Amino acid sequence: MSAICQLENASKIYGSGPTEVRALDSVSVSIEPGEFTVFSGPSGSGKSTLLNLIGLLDEASSGQVFLQGHDVSHLSQRKLASLRAQQIGFIFQSFNLVPVLTALENVTLALQLAGLGGNHKEQATKVLQDVGLGEFLHRRPNQLSGGQQQRVAVARALVKKPALVIADEPTANLDTKSGDNVLDLMHDLNESLGATFLFSTHDPRVMARAKRIVKLRDGRIEADERPNGGV
Ligand code: ADP
Ligand code: MG
Repeated sequence: MSAICQLENASKIYGSGPTEVRALDSVSVSIEPGEFTVFSGPSGSGKSTLLNLIGLLDEASSGQVFLQGHDVSHLSQRKLASLRAQQIGFIFQSFNLVPVLTALENVTLALQLAGLGGNHKEQATKVLQDVGLGEFLHRRPNQLSGGQQQRVAVARALVKKPALVIADEPTANLDTKSGDNVLDLMHDLNESLGATFLFSTHDPRVMARAKRIVKLRDGRIEADERPNGGV
């Protein structure tokens, strides 16, 4: 199996009885290496739930989740945490940087948590330079603009050279220009590094540039399209 990740009839049910919500309803989808895929759909359609399953932040109620061909459903919490730290980079809508750490320290921390070798400071500096923040290494998040903070988050996600980068509405809290800059950056990294990107968004600018758009509605896949002749 060449897919980086795959859901097979995956469902997620929150609550039970009268408060039960079927957030994902028997979804099957497969992501190949190097794809730049957007999950779109109205609020509440299941985008975050789906990304959280793929990102090993949450477990399916039924069905299977595969990461690089391995069924992850029976792995221990410890093994899941180490897979997550090493193989997956996350970018969130609200950046989720550690406020008391500098840009450099936030990125270095990701390498420490992943238990990777090498010179962490050197690697983190290089990636921060790559995302255009070479002059801001020692600033804390509150000393950076929203767009710059999201660039730190991109650097933090990529510094581990993960198999998969997952971004849940990454441009939702950014103005148009900063959002476009961050998007340009992710496209460049997708092309130059071959990193696989999964997004959720309802931002038309993000969708316009996706190679693949998977549309969700009520926890189901309504369409799976490759509008720009993407692979
Ligand atoms: P989206 O990201 O597309 O807005 P979500 O995946 O966040 O959608 O939510 C899908 C559905 O699951 C929604 O009806 C939402 O209210 C519900 N949901 C999400 N997370 C939880 C939770 N932790 N507990 C209960 N219901 C939840
Ligand atoms: Mg969401």
